[in-house]
Amino acid sequence: MIATESEVGLAGFFINGAWEKPQGHATIPVTNPATGAVLAETPFATEADVDRAARAAHEAYLKWRDVPVVDRVQVLYRFKALLEEHAAEVAAILTRENGKTAEDSRMEVRRAIQMVEVSCGMPTLMMGDSLNDVAREIDCKTIRQPIGVCVGITPFNFPAMVPLWMYPFAIACGNAFILKPSEKVPLTPTRVVELLAEAGVPVGVMSLLHGGKETVDALLHHPLVKSVSFVGSTPVAKYIYSTAAAQGKRVQALGGAKNHLVVMPDADMPKAVEAIIGSAFGAAGERCLAGSVLVPVGDAAGPLLELLAKRTEALAVGDGSKAGVEMGPLVTADHRQRVAGYIEKGVAEGAKPLCDGRKYKSESGGFFLGPTIFDHVKPDMTIAKEEIFGPVLSVIRVKTLDEAINLVNRSPYGNATSIFTSNGKAAREYSSGIEVGMVGINVGVAAPMAFFPFAGWKSSFFGDLHAHGKDAVAFYTEQKVVMSRWY
Ligand code: NAD
Repeated sequence: MIATESEVGLAGFFINGAWEKPQGHATIPVTNPATGAVLAETPFATEADVDRAARAAHEAYLKWRDVPVVDRVQVLYRFKALLEEHAAEVAAILTRENGKTAEDSRMEVRRAIQMVEVSCGMPTLMMGDSLNDVAREIDCKTIRQPIGVCVGITPFNFPAMVPLWMYPFAIACGNAFILKPSEKVPLTPTRVVELLAEAGVPVGVMSLLHGGKETVDALLHHPLVKSVSFVGSTPVAKYIYSTAAAQGKRVQALGGAKNHLVVMPDADMPKAVEAIIGSAFGAAGERCLAGSVLVPVGDAAGPLLELLAKRTEALAVGDGSKAGVEMGPLVTADHRQRVAGYIEKGVAEGAKPLCDGRKYKSESGGFFLGPTIFDHVKPDMTIAKEEIFGPVLSVIRVKTLDEAINLVNRSPYGNATSIFTSNGKAAREYSSGIEVGMVGINVGVAAPMAFFPFAGWKSSFFGDLHAHGKDAVAFYTEQKVVMSRWY
């Protein structure tokens, strides 16, 4: 019988079907970003912990791969039911340790559940092709088989959803999975794995470790680990990709972003403004799909910025767990400091603050920063080029759509972009000319649903097969071609 996390009272490790309270490990505090209060400690798994988890996962995989896929997905059906039942509780944990608003957390949990729903379709998704008589009396078919022990390393900003981009797909395909979530937000992924255990995932098929670079390095080098799925910043994504690939592992590494929102003069301005607010300041800008550069084309700037500044000044900032709050704090004191540093830099480099988030004052001890908009930003300024990952929007004015396309294509990143227009030709020209993997047309956050791939390009993605959708099925399986002739 699998023990529960609450019995050990800590965001512990889950190895070989048992929750462990690590002893003598290095730890870091987990804080509530709205108050600064310490909620828990994250223990850092050692190389020995990784080895135990990998061995247990491998043993489990050898049995799990032979369980018929229709039986494997029964665990996921039960998991989905438990997630639905505990959705509000998981969302509350998420807001408490990450800081995003209750509504953002609710939506994240909903998106997470959709990943499980799609994975429940694995009997259909894993089907191969077949053709009889490819030569005289020879039939041919392709089958998909699991690859073994798969690893997931995830960021702080979507602790409920991003791990579920990975393990429901991997497990449904017949693999065992080891998750190493962000050390800043261990409580949400722990609660979700607890629900998977309650759903009856067999011993060893799912493992949870916490930690930082040392834990990750041990996972990347372990001989029993066959694949690595990573989501986080670009420098770490590059490191993960090159290190794991050099060890012969299959890798998908999703990185950071700098997303442009282009607004044509013919756009529906009030609707565009609402979408831009959600994109730039939703989740306090801590989203890899957040709009961080606004590009008004021609005459769009005047009416757009007037409406946008008014709406931004009125944005309700505060503790995300409170009703009516539209933007919560940043995840840690360090991250708040880093984002404030970018605002200082923007001012120093000559950009004009239209709204200045530093004016926001909080008495709660939380890591708050109000929304900031910089106007008259030049493409070579730091705030125009680097990922800030906070509520800071830089406005770069351009004269034509071509100029906008050139500007966006000069960015090293290629995660997401949006265009706001009522002209179908402009929208078509933009979506086909842009070197970006996820494009919104009058949509501020072009987040693909679970059955489509999360399709970042350039320095936003390293690998060949993207997260979720059909790509996930290909990533978590190996194809085999079987030719048969019967005498
Ligand atoms: P991060 O890169 O600091 O950390 C991500 C994970 O990597 C964590 O689990 C962390 O413990 C681990 N890690 C950190 N440094 C490491 C190192 N030197 N060696 C090995 N492992 C290391 O990212 P974060 O701050 O948690 O998350 C924010 C970043 O994630 C942003 O850049 C954001 O754009 C990106 N992100 C991308 C996507 C996407 O789909 N492309 C989605 C969400 C977040």
